[in-house]
Amino acid sequence: MRLKDIQNIFHEELDVIFGANEVGSIFNILILHYLKINRIALVLEPELSVSKEEEQPLFEALSRLKLEEPIQYIIGETEFFGLPFHVNKHTLIPRPETEELVSLVIQYSKHKILSSQPFTILDIGTGTGCIAISLAKELPNAQVFAVDVSAEALKVAKQNAELNKVDINLINTDILDKNSWPQNLDIKFDVIVSNPPYVRDLEKLEIKNNVLKHEPHLALFVEDNDPLKFYEIITDFAVENLKNNGLLFFEINQYLGNETKQLLQEKGFNDLELKLDIFGNNRMLKGLKNF
Ligand code: GLN
Repeated sequence: MRLKDIQNIFHEELDVIFGANEVGSIFNILILHYLKINRIALVLEPELSVSKEEEQPLFEALSRLKLEEPIQYIIGETEFFGLPFHVNKHTLIPRPETEELVSLVIQYSKHKILSSQPFTILDIGTGTGCIAISLAKELPNAQVFAVDVSAEALKVAKQNAELNKVDINLINTDILDKNSWPQNLDIKFDVIVSNPPYVRDLEKLEIKNNVLKHEPHLALFVEDNDPLKFYEIITDFAVENLKNNGLLFFEINQYLGNETKQLLQEKGFNDLELKLDIFGNNRMLKGLKNF
């Protein structure tokens, strides 16, 4: 079949869901991924045809796209902070806002790298490992630890650490369960960073179908009546496990900026900074532990 005809079928079936522009980009990603055909080749050679076997993954992807499955899960990969990452249904797809969180951590950590002191970072709820791995890549002297409650997510994080050739320490633990906190780790951290679940059930209405139907709810949602539960417990953990002058960084719910800031203040953190993301929403919070 001519690739152009397959492209038309994609538009006919999917434009109503994603819009023509998005469908164009998705198609280009698929032909590059499965057939190693660059979109320019299709422009230069409009009669380009592909065999039955070559068509098959494209039509399989089409059926999954009709169910609004994100393209990243279909091809099993994405990019974050300029690095490749495997993703699957056990992990969130890394977001651009989280790249901003990583930039903020780097901005505050660069000077530590220049000193000869050992420098330690902990990422709580690592998922794909995107935060931990990009920090390990950018801050090569840092010793990076990452925890997650999901053993399946940790498998993905392990693959991603290998893919990006960084050495990070992955630990399976439920941060909400104090008894399961790693006891034998005789380490205090310079930096603790986390992008925990923070979307309230009441905000589900704002969440697009591709996210709601396909991304892990475990990584996204919190109950309306206790939306800061992860922030509370992670901040308690940070009180115990950050070094003096250590920094705590969070990605936060845009509607709960002031409440989250107040929580850190009550727990004794200083130099609190609430930062906006590229979309102009309260999205990052930094606090200093100097007590
Ligand atoms: N920013 C993500 C979203 O809007 C949520 C990430 C999270 O809950 N940690 O889907």
